[in-house]
Amino acid sequence: MTTRLETAERIVIKVGSALIVDPKTRTPSQYWLTTLAADIAELHAAGKQVVLVSSGAVALGRPFLNKVEKSGRPGSLELKQAASAIGQPRLMAALQAAFDLQKLPLAQALLTLDDTEIRRRWLNGRATLFTLLDNGTIPVINENDTVATSEIRYGDNDRLAARVAQMIDADVLVLLSDIDGLYTEDPRKNPDATHIGSAAAVTPEFRSYAGDANASAGVGTGGMATKLDAAAIAWTAGCSTVITLGKPEHPIRKLRNGGRATWIISEVTPQAARMSWLSGHLTPEGSVTVDAGAEKALISGASLLAVGIRSVTGRFTRGAAIAIQNPKGKTIAKGMVAYDATEIEQIKGLQTGDVSERLGYPARSAVIHRDNMILVDGEE
Ligand code: GLU
Repeated sequence: MTTRLETAERIVIKVGSALIVDPKTRTPSQYWLTTLAADIAELHAAGKQVVLVSSGAVALGRPFLNKVEKSGRPGSLELKQAASAIGQPRLMAALQAAFDLQKLPLAQALLTLDDTEIRRRWLNGRATLFTLLDNGTIPVINENDTVATSEIRYGDNDRLAARVAQMIDADVLVLLSDIDGLYTEDPRKNPDATHIGSAAAVTPEFRSYAGDANASAGVGTGGMATKLDAAAIAWTAGCSTVITLGKPEHPIRKLRNGGRATWIISEVTPQAARMSWLSGHLTPEGSVTVDAGAEKALISGASLLAVGIRSVTGRFTRGAAIAIQNPKGKTIAKGMVAYDATEIEQIKGLQTGDVSERLGYPARSAVIHRDNMILVDGEE
């Protein structure tokens, strides 16, 4: 199983508050963080792209809100929002100190639910994360707790991490937990509980095992049930999930060396999952017709640029899925578009360098990036 980690190109690692924050001092577990950073540096040196989804903002910020705590509303949403505003920079400072030792630059991205649920914003987030990864940084993601209110929040970072894994086509999602995987019962209550080494999907049976196992040290929110929810989300996106113990030093190195874990394997690749979504579920919201040069470029794997577009039909917005047709009107590809139909009308036929000038704002790298496109067997 561990080979999945070795062959993975993109990995999302989620660490919870119980690992990041020392419950006694309510400050960052700095030494543990340096070992995590060293492990991530090893993955990075092996050519892998890593995104870290880190909790801890609320837990680190709380000690600074004594006045509010005394006011008798310790669990209020405003308190959590305020605590996260104080804790988030402290969290990043602790992480940056650990990653500085590895000479790895971090990049912070705070997401709200809409960033993964609204396609246009999903596309924005995806493009930014790819840019950060391509530039060798380690993006660190948390929920933007300061503005997320109860109706519009992920609520736990397990599911947020799964959405991020989906967003960036990750191959593996690592959930560092306070237990080394899923058992048939809570092993702390029943020593005969059986550990599950791997599974091909999240089945109802597994969900029935989750129970209250993995109730954590009191500072985190997710339990095993949310971890299985996360695994199920990742699974549909072609991403395998591994749940393992986070508490030991060098938790990722331990996992790579065969440490005990539960793997939920997704057999399709993230690319194949995205393609089946694009080709299956899609009624194109519009189309563009390209010239023969662009058709050739697309078939050889290039992105669609404005210069190759002759005409546009439909009234779609940025993020819509549209069809790409060749000069004969045959659909040769489908993809998610980086501009509205009205913008494409203005920029069609222009060289990329002239697009910004025409629009009056900075241009995107392509009208449809090749990562957001699939080639299809022509439909007239
Ligand atoms: N976003 C929260 C924080 O940073 C944690 C949520 C979670 O642990 O699931 O404190």
